[in-house]
Amino acid sequence: MSAITNHMPTAELQALDAAHHMHPFTNGDELNAKGARVITRAKGVTLTDSEGNQILDAMAGLWCVNIGYGREELAEVAARQMRELPYYNTFFQTTHVPAIALANKLAELAPGDLNHVFFAGSGSEANDTNIRMVRTYWAMKGKPTKSVIISRKNAYHGSSVGSGSLGGMTYMHAQGGMPIPDIHHINQPHWYAEGGDMTPEEFGLARARELEEAILELGEDRVAAFIAEPVQGAGGVIIPPETYWPEIQRICDKYEILLIADEVICGFGRTGTWFGSITMGLRPDIMTIAKGLSSGYQPIGGSIVSDEVAAVIGSGEFNHGYTYSGHPVAAAVALENLRILEEERVVDHVRDVAAPHLKAKWEALSDHPLVGEARIIGLMGSLALTPHKDSRAKFASDAGTVGLICRERCFANNLVMRHVGDRMIISPPLVITPEEIDTLIARATKALDECHAELK
Ligand code: PLP
Repeated sequence: MSAITNHMPTAELQALDAAHHMHPFTNGDELNAKGARVITRAKGVTLTDSEGNQILDAMAGLWCVNIGYGREELAEVAARQMRELPYYNTFFQTTHVPAIALANKLAELAPGDLNHVFFAGSGSEANDTNIRMVRTYWAMKGKPTKSVIISRKNAYHGSSVGSGSLGGMTYMHAQGGMPIPDIHHINQPHWYAEGGDMTPEEFGLARARELEEAILELGEDRVAAFIAEPVQGAGGVIIPPETYWPEIQRICDKYEILLIADEVICGFGRTGTWFGSITMGLRPDIMTIAKGLSSGYQPIGGSIVSDEVAAVIGSGEFNHGYTYSGHPVAAAVALENLRILEEERVVDHVRDVAAPHLKAKWEALSDHPLVGEARIIGLMGSLALTPHKDSRAKFASDAGTVGLICRERCFANNLVMRHVGDRMIISPPLVITPEEIDTLIARATKALDECHAELK
């Protein structure tokens, strides 16, 4: 077979793709009928596809390319590390400089006493680590019955059997034997969709208190941990009411439940501080990290854990690990990514420049006839599409039909915006400039207008 290259016609690449490549979260029939969009290169916030279209990526890939595409420094670090030490493991009392350096840097950046890192290859793997780690922690403390992990409906914590079970996506649970035992899901703090007649503040408290009810129902002696994203991402960028997190923290403290903050999306600047836990005022015992850790340039994730949890786990042997835990090339690239985030003051740029500029324009989209709510925190935002602006009504069509139309209109206008049901969401690279934000808003407005016209 001749080499497959970027220079081949799109249709040929699509046919070869459909013939042998199985895609995540993709309908196979649609893939065969329409073909995949082929992305050939990227720079800054802009993707180029095989047709030469220049597309503004308002999702930073999958919420991960925080420093933007095309940074030569990361390529150079990767090549240098591959020449020096392309691989060695961190099992059996062995280590190497990239893993040492990255763990030390993360301990410096993470809040509170989160000073110890267990590396994984992805966010899913890190959350699988967390399941085993919190259960092992309680067992080593002489409380082996504390094994239940409480999570939330419509949460996303990954796609492996363990992390997918932690997640609260029913369409995922319907396939492949999930959830695993001893995972319990409570309701999410999604006021717009589920708040009824309550104020957001009342609703936030009510939803947080479901954690206390679940602990009392299951038995305090059975609950190991509560896991949540500071701001739910894949569930639709759901920013909880202000009353929610303080109450959750109070309940975790009262019942000695470990708090796991899944920072896979919120970490590394997304909400305008280094971690969503800082933005939300949380004191987690464990943080899950991935994505922005390397800006997606290399697959790497991990769990940053407290002194207390590390001391207990470290008092024996934790029979857990991945071939690529602390992979030297991934660790070196992540370290370089963190250097860029710090030295170029990217988190300050989000807080002081990009987020305020985007917030004003994004929230103004709530004036659009199709938009019931426009919310944003840092550089992650959502639009709730609705047929009746003032009632938070849902469309009569199947959930997601209108969102899908809008996403297609975005694509047609060279904008990647994702839909979750009938919510449109964005999470652009953190380095996005005010001018690029204006382009994003102009394209989003045009897509909304076209979607609105199509529905008439
Ligand atoms: N946790 C959260 C909050 C995520 O958004 C994701 C991925 O989107 C994951 C975990 C899983 O990460 P990965 O896809 O790297 O396994």
